[in-house]
Amino acid sequence: MVGAANVLAPAPREYLSDGTAGRGLEGRAEAVVRPGSAEEVAAVLAHCYAEGVPITTRGGGTGFAGGAVPQGGIVLSTARMARVRAFDPLQWRIHVEAGLPTAELRRIVRGSGLWFPPDPGAAEQSQIGGNVATNAGGPHAFKYGTTRAWVTGIEAVIPPGEIVTTGGPVRKNVAGYDLVGLLAGSEGTLGIVTAVWLRLIPAVEAALPIAALFAGLEAGCTAVEALMGSGVVPACIEYVDEPALAATGHDFPGGPPGRGFLVIAEADGSAAEAAAGRAALREALAGAGATWIATPSGDDIPALWRWRDSISPRVTAVRGGKLAEDVAVPVDRLADALRGSAEIGARHGVETMSWGHAGDGNLHTSFLVAPESADDHARAEAACEELFDLALRLGGTITGEHGVGLLKRSHLADQLSPAAQRLNAEIKRAFDPKGLLNPGKG
Ligand SMILES: Cc1cc2nc3c(=O)[nH]c(=O)nc-3n(C[C@H](O)[C@H](O)[C@H](O)COP(=O)(O)OP(=O)(O)OC[C@H]3O[C@@H](n4cnc5c(N)ncnc54)[C@H](O)[C@@H]3O)c2cc1C
Repeated sequence: MVGAANVLAPAPREYLSDGTAGRGLEGRAEAVVRPGSAEEVAAVLAHCYAEGVPITTRGGGTGFAGGAVPQGGIVLSTARMARVRAFDPLQWRIHVEAGLPTAELRRIVRGSGLWFPPDPGAAEQSQIGGNVATNAGGPHAFKYGTTRAWVTGIEAVIPPGEIVTTGGPVRKNVAGYDLVGLLAGSEGTLGIVTAVWLRLIPAVEAALPIAALFAGLEAGCTAVEALMGSGVVPACIEYVDEPALAATGHDFPGGPPGRGFLVIAEADGSAAEAAAGRAALREALAGAGATWIATPSGDDIPALWRWRDSISPRVTAVRGGKLAEDVAVPVDRLADALRGSAEIGARHGVETMSWGHAGDGNLHTSFLVAPESADDHARAEAACEELFDLALRLGGTITGEHGVGLLKRSHLADQLSPAAQRLNAEIKRAFDPKGLLNPGKG
């Protein structure tokens, strides 16, 4: 169906794990199948459905929830489906296949002065199909929303092997149930996304970050609320807590921030809007008691974001490994969540560091481990369990970013009411009655 060269059997090991490999997650599969078109995906799905073979769809394999880790059957890789089907810069829209790498998409539209705002990390490796399937979002989700907000249509293959299109190039569409919304974030459990229609916007002229240091987490979280009351919509509000800053802050670009709780925000728009916006953010941060403020310009701006992107690998390097989570809480409970995470880590005797997307109440709390220490892993896993409970107690969610996958499936029932669980199960049955799409997930 896809050509013998595009069936890899036995399945090469690199297709059996994803971004969770450091947590020891490795799956098993009989083969990897690499279709080149939606028609080939439909033929493969029809065959698997008839034969009862499970299918795990794999995009870039960067997921942090184990969603692409197969539990038997085949891995269906979308890597060969990376074409741009149509790009209409004057209409601010693009129609692309699922396997297009995220960074490549951003580069293509940027060449015409346009911008696709979702900015999850790992953009060079992840694919737009994977971003849609996890409804991914990065720092700029605060102002611009997660991937779903930019998808106007999806082409997907659903059981028993049918190509369906929901939405399309049309920007407004309220006919029927929101199937685009159901497929976005469904982590390969409802259908295989083969192409998407995305809306775009003109690239902003300027994006000016500001960084400020606070004495501790209470003051830092108060500053986050002050930013939200500043009258400006920051493009992002990020934080780095004291332990994470102590481990990574020594080469902060443009001067050492010293020790403390770091808040980074950004104002964007036309050059004049961004400058005025940053002045207002500065006033809010100063008023909230910042002990140090930096307003980078020129090369210090990309350097700041490179430093921000380096936090995760450098926190990993402290002990060689980490169990990093992505719980989210209402923004007014951020301080409680941060205090609670530190207490949980201390109770389990694991070093704890946290950073993330303060404006979305989204914490990347990390419990550090020595990779070879089973005892460290057991204590960090126990800490993660308590972290999920804490997030739910504070009115939040077990996952704000990475999805449920294999890692969090046993916690989903803690978050969803019985009625919501029933609806979830019925939706799954409606799309995938045999339960062959990414079984054991979500
Ligand atoms: C360094 C690093 C930084 C990261 N930063 C962020 C971040 O800032 N924000 C964020 O949200 N995530 C982040 N992630 C997690 C990850 O990059 C995202 O979840 C990303 O969207 C996954 O895309 P992928 O193509 O790699 O998908 P995969 O890992 O291949 O798959 C993820 C899930 O989507 C399903 N899937 C993939 N493609 C399709 C398809 N075409 N149709 C149906 N289902 C599909 C898979 O079955 C799986 O369940 C980060 C990961 C790394 C390694």
